Amino acid sequence: MKQYIDAQKAFFLTQTTKDVSFRINELNRLAKLLKDNEEVLNKAILDDFKKSAFENYLTELAFVQHDIKEAKRNLHRWARRQKVKTNVANFPAKSYIIPEPLGTVLVIGAWNYPYQLSISPAVAAIAAGNTVIIKPSEMPSETARVMAELINNAFDPKILKVIEGGVKETTELLKQDFDKIFFTGSTTVGKIVYKAAAEKLIPVTLELGGKSPAIITKDANLKMAAKRLIWAKFLNSGQTCIAPDYILIHKSKEQEFLKYAVAEIEKAKYAFDNDNYVQIINEKNFDRLAAMLDTSKTHYGGETNRAERYIAPTLLTAISWEHPSMQEEIFGPILPVLTFSEIDEVFTNVRKFDKPLSLYVFTSSSKTKNRVLNELSFGGGAVNEAVMHVSNPHLPFGGVGTSGIGSYHGKAGFDCFTHYKSIIDKPTWIELPIKFSPYSKTKLTWLRRLFKLQ
Ligand code: NAD
Repeated sequence: MKQYIDAQKAFFLTQTTKDVSFRINELNRLAKLLKDNEEVLNKAILDDFKKSAFENYLTELAFVQHDIKEAKRNLHRWARRQKVKTNVANFPAKSYIIPEPLGTVLVIGAWNYPYQLSISPAVAAIAAGNTVIIKPSEMPSETARVMAELINNAFDPKILKVIEGGVKETTELLKQDFDKIFFTGSTTVGKIVYKAAAEKLIPVTLELGGKSPAIITKDANLKMAAKRLIWAKFLNSGQTCIAPDYILIHKSKEQEFLKYAVAEIEKAKYAFDNDNYVQIINEKNFDRLAAMLDTSKTHYGGETNRAERYIAPTLLTAISWEHPSMQEEIFGPILPVLTFSEIDEVFTNVRKFDKPLSLYVFTSSSKTKNRVLNELSFGGGAVNEAVMHVSNPHLPFGGVGTSGIGSYHGKAGFDCFTHYKSIIDKPTWIELPIKFSPYSKTKLTWLRRLFKLQ
């Protein structure tokens, strides 16, 4: 792996990646590769966890293609030097900022959206003029293999290279001298990555997880809330970092909401032998999730099939904050529904957890909406919607506190892999003598006048 990193570093120094048309060319290569091989990519993800071509297109391939399109459309503008004002103290001079690629970067992907989470950060890194090593998650083995095969055959490894592997290989990669590490995954592994990067002062973006609540107030449109939340939760069988993890609903509306939620689940026809539902990624996660199931608390669902790694969409009710499903990020098709009487309880209880990656509030009261948005800290989220904020490239995507450091998507992705180099550019025809020694009282008086400070 060192040989690939050294080759990328040497290539970066040739300055080739500074050329915006070079970057656009590489992005076109990637877009074409993904389009031409859609069937191969569909087959791999179907083999790994029975994700259908429809879901693969909606949540992975279209997502990446959209990122590429957005970067290409804006790249000339993003990569341009930006003129800024010059202050009086520097007169006469020009001031500007040069967006500079960081160099050779490492992207470590998570398994739940294996294509999107490995390739989208790489799109941003290439757009910003970096060379990139991708280390996809090893858990969906077919998608990792196919990504490596396709990308490594189509790209010069000096520009983009996929290195496959698990903990051992990632540990080795983390010892190398990258100019940036972009990690998507769990908070636990995020800490390992952060520590390794700190040893070498390598900047990081950490896209992590957490328990993302969905709050439903008594004045909410319950039917719409159920429709949107059920889709957002059971997409990818709940294996989505921004899936609504649990629901907090006003107790007077719980029964009505549950009626709509059950109707939505039934309408969606989720089953392990059709295209509407994906498998749990592996037995380890199946067992972890099955341990959260609790027949005495199951309002709907609860059926499992270990051989098929299937857990039916499940609603849990009448559970306490101490219930196993409330002790960690669920990351599966189990949705606990908890209730509150006063809105203040929501604030107290959400704050008992680490700052979530996402938060959703369903309400028709702008007072409640604004209180939730202003007073609770979370990565990002939505009002009367769930999950969809991730699909707007104009919204930087990332966590806060233990749910992550930094953000990406659209311009934020470009920024994430760019150093903004600030320059004062001075002519030589004049130099004001005031800052030079020997200092004097007169000079100090002039300095004070110039700065106009207190
Ligand atoms: P994970 O942390 O287990 O693995 C992520 C990556 O780290 C993989 O590539 C894996 O090979 C590597 N890795 C695992 N253990 C390692 C170790 N000890 N040392 C070095 N590298 C190691 O995460 P996961 O199971 O793939 O993903 C699930 C988690 O990721 C959830 O918490 C979820 O919320 C979060 N997630 C966050 C986002 C986001 O955008 N914020 C997106 C998807 C998933």
